[in-house]
Amino acid sequence: MKRFENAQVWSDGKLRPLSVIVEGEKILALIEPGAVDHQSTDQIIDVSGKWILPGGIDLHVHISDGAETFFPGSCSAAAGGITTVLDMAPFHACITVEQLYEKAISADEACVVDFGLIAGIVVENSDLENLAELSHAGSAYFKVFQPSEPPVSTETLWKSVQAAAKTGLRLGLHAEETAFLLPFLEENDPLSFPHSRPAIAESSVVAHVIEMARATGAPIHICHISTGRTAELVAWGKAHGVDVTCEVPPHFLLLDESAFSIYGARAKTTPPLRTQVDTQILWQALNDGVIDAIACDHYTESLIPLSSKPQAIRAAGAGIAGLELSLPLMMDAVLNGKLSLNRFVEASSETPALLAGLSASKGRLSSGKHADLTIWEPELNWKVKPSGDFSRVETTPFSGWNLKGRIAQTWVRGEQVWDGEKIQKAAGYGLWAKSIKGDNP
Ligand SMILES: [Zn+2]
Repeated sequence: MKRFENAQVWSDGKLRPLSVIVEGEKILALIEPGAVDHQSTDQIIDVSGKWILPGGIDLHVHISDGAETFFPGSCSAAAGGITTVLDMAPFHACITVEQLYEKAISADEACVVDFGLIAGIVVENSDLENLAELSHAGSAYFKVFQPSEPPVSTETLWKSVQAAAKTGLRLGLHAEETAFLLPFLEENDPLSFPHSRPAIAESSVVAHVIEMARATGAPIHICHISTGRTAELVAWGKAHGVDVTCEVPPHFLLLDESAFSIYGARAKTTPPLRTQVDTQILWQALNDGVIDAIACDHYTESLIPLSSKPQAIRAAGAGIAGLELSLPLMMDAVLNGKLSLNRFVEASSETPALLAGLSASKGRLSSGKHADLTIWEPELNWKVKPSGDFSRVETTPFSGWNLKGRIAQTWVRGEQVWDGEKIQKAAGYGLWAKSIKGDNP
């Protein structure tokens, strides 16, 4: 047995001075300090002055796609306090159970944190044929990617919503309606990129799919919301009984479109960064619970130079490396009063566990749950390095930012995976966290 002592532990919605007793992979009990005879404990871990929070669960990462792979991607997750990643499929790459199992085997051999798998990506009607089997096999949700080539038709989106209603498997949508997208024309303006993908491309299709979900009772999830109007539409849906949830990556909270003039191509992601007003509405929506989850959408196609030349922005692949910094950026917001600690824990762990069908074992610090722990040093100030320690995706717009609150240790199922400096487990320690149906809120 292990006993974590002298920390403030997140329990029943607040930090409390408790000891965490871990037996094997699971939490045995949270107890008042000094309440158990030390003789019965094999290992005492003194975490004085630190906070123990439930390990992060990220609903949306691409670590089997683009320039990233499972091992370095999962190491980045561990260093970033994320104990379970939900890996997104590339186009058509996870539309059969065989493909799901193939991916599970690859991830199982390489990941150092636990992982879940997302079915999809659906871009045409035939991609929906095996959805019920994919749901039973343990996929967390399925993804529809709208601005594909050719774009997803209204008919396919409607059939996808109907399939979500029929199977109960949540539909995650990358919402950008191709009809609103414009060519990237202005050669001298870094804002040409965000202006080529206007806010209405997102909000119009969100309104559309919420109405489809209202009509069918389908569970839907809007991926990486970027506009204030989208948050207002999701709030409307929730207030009217629609089973709609959504996520936000830190970059849509912390950066606005002025970032293109500073960070250039490193700020390129789809949908793009929006206005300062949008960021203010998104912060409010996250604090109010309209936004359910923080999900980093870790992705990139290649190494991205720091250049704000429009030509460089146009040529660069889209995507921001998020795994190592997502939770530290959000914790910095907590410690600077922009986000409540309660909402941080709900949005980074409790609610993602529910949405991914993992709440039987993950998302809370309580007896019987996996001992997935992120241990924070809340008083520590540090500076983000130009590149991450592990990820093959070596660029970030947040390079050089000063943050408060650092991750001291990350534990997955009772074993230390990250000690604050190094990865402590070999490739393959992570297990497939299969989604259990009926676990969705
Ligand atoms: Zn994505």
